[in-house]
Amino acid sequence: MPVITTSIFELLKIGPGPSSSHTIGPMKAGLDFHRLMAELPPERMDRAHTLQVHLFGSLSATGKGHGTDRSVLAGLLGKSPGDCPPDFLDAIPFNRDGSLTIPAGGVEITFRQPDMIYDDGQHDFPYSNTLIIRLSGKDGIILEKEYYSVGGGFLQWKGWREPERGAPPYPYGNAMELWKQMKKRRLDIAELMMANEKAISGMDETGINRGLDHIIDVMEDSVERGVRTEGYLPGPIGLHRKAPLFFQRARGMSQNAERLLVYLCSYAFAASEENAAGHTVVTAPTCGSAGVIPAVVRLLRRHQKIPLEKVRGALLGAAAVGFIAKQNASISGAEVGCQGEIGVAASMAAALVALANDSGVRIAENAAETALEHHLGMTCDPVKGYVQIPCIERNAMGAVKAYTAYLIAREGLPDWHMVGLDKAIEAMNMTGRDMRAEYRETAKGGLARCC
Ligand code: SF4
Repeated sequence: MPVITTSIFELLKIGPGPSSSHTIGPMKAGLDFHRLMAELPPERMDRAHTLQVHLFGSLSATGKGHGTDRSVLAGLLGKSPGDCPPDFLDAIPFNRDGSLTIPAGGVEITFRQPDMIYDDGQHDFPYSNTLIIRLSGKDGIILEKEYYSVGGGFLQWKGWREPERGAPPYPYGNAMELWKQMKKRRLDIAELMMANEKAISGMDETGINRGLDHIIDVMEDSVERGVRTEGYLPGPIGLHRKAPLFFQRARGMSQNAERLLVYLCSYAFAASEENAAGHTVVTAPTCGSAGVIPAVVRLLRRHQKIPLEKVRGALLGAAAVGFIAKQNASISGAEVGCQGEIGVAASMAAALVALANDSGVRIAENAAETALEHHLGMTCDPVKGYVQIPCIERNAMGAVKAYTAYLIAREGLPDWHMVGLDKAIEAMNMTGRDMRAEYRETAKGGLARCC
């Protein structure tokens, strides 16, 4: 079993919505190409006159609605997801004729709208979300690179190799191996994950804690902005934001279980609506599912008054669930459908709630498994290719299911729990690979076809 060597800061990334595969990954590709052009000798750049971007798979099918075109261009202009201002994608400085002047390696290249090519939906590249960026001159191609946006904002390319990283002291590749390590070393999950993160990222504990606190802050900011922002979301659907209404209604309700549920939904709507607006969110584990974990984090912090240190430790445990799902299946809707996005987010969130409530790792694993099990088979079918319907409500349902999964795991007897997290992830992978392409982020099946 290959050892997981992903850093938590690669999984939980800060960047613009609405879809990590369609915005953060492509923006990174554009930025990488921007840097490669800057490294070319001036005599080669002097010959450059055409820059083209070919989008394949679901980048082609739904890239327009997801803002892939603007994300690649922002990267080509030198912007990176972590520091791109929230409104930059809405304000790319196009020329009057719709072209864009891109400074590259000491020259300026004019990118024209037809140079963004929405290519084949079906193809033979190793990953669905493929893009090729090509710089040409009169004598032919000067520079070309084939990129793969593999989900959650992760980017690979033709010939990509896993970068050299520090070896984690407690290696694991799946949930079973992780639990064995914890038992053998007598570590809790936060201690184990912290030790591994230090080795993988090369950061010290203070830096990691600071980074985790920043992630929690950005999650809470996305909720806070969302519950206070009225109006309509961009795009042709004309979808009204719901978070402020639900938040106000929850505030007016008497103290009961329903009130907490309405709050939880309002928080998930809030972060998801901010994502749909193309504003800054945390990929948890993707942009499309960026409302689930922030919603439960806000519930834990504001309603259950759970201290920051405890939520931070629980987030490390939740990240382990995301890593295992990514390594053994996928967190990309284009690869395995929505079960890999909202399903994995709910699974991570269920573990987070259990760990933050000191319920122990066995309950956390059962909760994570239960949450994922009840998302199995969920297709990705965004209406008109926009991460709005069904995505926003799915985040609310994912948060509610995550909390319910925790309650089922906590109130049941652990010995009665029959399915392990690894089995649910295996089932998700098989089910996702069996799904026809229409159900994997192409906006051609399911609700996208009917609405
Ligand atoms: S349906 Fe699910 S996987 Fe597809 S874009 Fe929406 S949130 Fe992402």
